[in-house]
Amino acid sequence: MKKTLRYNYRLNPTPEQEVKLIEFGATARGIWNLLLSENMRRYEYDKTFLFYKDMASLLKGIKSFEEFDWIKAFDSAAAQQVARDLETALKNAFSKGRVQHFPKHKISYKKKKLHNDSFRAVNNSNCIRIENGAISIPKVGKVPIVLHRDLASKIKSVTVQFRHGKWECSITQEVECKTALRVLNRITGFDINSKQTVVGSDGFVADNPKFLKHSKEKLNQLQRQLARRKKGSNRWQKTKQRINKLHGRISRQRLDFAHKISRQITNENDILVFEDLNVKAMQKFNGSMVADNVMGLITQLSKYKAELEGKLYHEIGRFEKSTGICAECGQHHVLTLNDRYFTCTACGTYQNRDLSSAKSIVRTGELDLIAAGIVARVYPISQQKQAIKTKVFELSKLGCGSEKKEAA
Ligand SMILES: [Zn+2]
Repeated sequence: MKKTLRYNYRLNPTPEQEVKLIEFGATARGIWNLLLSENMRRYEYDKTFLFYKDMASLLKGIKSFEEFDWIKAFDSAAAQQVARDLETALKNAFSKGRVQHFPKHKISYKKKKLHNDSFRAVNNSNCIRIENGAISIPKVGKVPIVLHRDLASKIKSVTVQFRHGKWECSITQEVECKTALRVLNRITGFDINSKQTVVGSDGFVADNPKFLKHSKEKLNQLQRQLARRKKGSNRWQKTKQRINKLHGRISRQRLDFAHKISRQITNENDILVFEDLNVKAMQKFNGSMVADNVMGLITQLSKYKAELEGKLYHEIGRFEKSTGICAECGQHHVLTLNDRYFTCTACGTYQNRDLSSAKSIVRTGELDLIAAGIVARVYPISQQKQAIKTKVFELSKLGCGSEKKEAA
C-alpha cells in the first residue's frame, strides 16, 4: 500500500523570486474566485456545475484575451490544479449529507492584512526537482530550500505558501507502507482529556508541554496590548506582527509535540485505539478545547504513522461513553469536568478518571476489531498455563485501519 505524505520545508527565496511567489499566490486565488463565480452563475442558470474539463478549457479559452494576461504568466499546470481543487471542493460540498452550498471565495490578503495565498505546482515530467540546495519551481526558478530531512520518494506536487512571516513549501510524496504486521502484541487505548494530556490504558501519560502554555499566556498579553493600541497605527502594526509571529511559533511547537507523542506511542504499541473526537467534542468539550486542535493532530499523526509501520489504528466511533466508566466493573458514573478522580459506586474502586476512560476505550476498541474480523485473539504457548498477561492478536484480514471498509 502506498501513502501520500506531506513534508514541510522552509524556503529562502531571493527578493525577485519573492515577488513572483506573491504574484503567483494572488493569481491562484484569482483563478479560484473566477472559476467559482462562473460555477455559481452556471448553477443559477441551469443548476449544473462546471467540472474540471469545462474549467480547464475555459481557462485555455480566456488566456488569449488581454485582460487575462495575468493567467498567461502563471504556470499552466498550477492553474489546472486550482480547477481540480475547486472540483473536489464542489463535489465535497454538494455530495449527499453535506452542506449543499458553494465553497467560499478567497479573500485578498490586503483586505485581511494577511498573506494566506498559496499555489500548488505539479511535478510533470520532472519539472520540480531539488538540486544543490534549491528547488526548481516552474516559472519561478531555483528557490533555495532548507532540506532538513531527505526526500522519501519522488515529488508529486509542491504547495508554496507564506505563513506567519516565513516562506514554506509542502512537498507531497508517495511513500510505501511496511507490510502489515501479522502478529500484534500490544493494544493500548488513549484518552485525550480536557487539559490535553494524553493518557494511555497502559499508564502512559504525556502532559501538554509547559512551553505551549507560556506561549499562550504571551499571546493573550499581546492581544490585550493590541486592543489598547489605535487600529492601523504603527505601534498597532508592530504588535500585530508580533502576534502573527507568535502564532507561527505556537503552531510549530504544537506540531512538534504532536509528532513526538505520536511517534512514541506508535513505536511502543501495535494497535492504537482512540475515541472519535467529533463524538467526544459533542459530548463534553468546551469551546477552547475544540478551537485548539492538539488532540486532532495527535490522532491524525498517529494514524499515518501506524499505517506506515504496518500497525493498526482504530477509532471507536459510536456514541459510547468512555468517561466515568469503572475500569473494574463497568459501572457508569456522571462526572463533572472537575472530577479528576472518582470512587466506583458499585465496587468501591478509587480510580483516575482519565486512566479508567482509556481502559474503557481499549476494551471497546478490542471488541470492535474482533467483531469486525480484523484481528483474532491468540494465546501464545508460553502463556497457556498461566493467566494471560500480554494480549496477542493476529491479523485475520490483510490491510489495516483505513482499508477495512473497502475490504468488508
Ligand atoms: Zn466498579
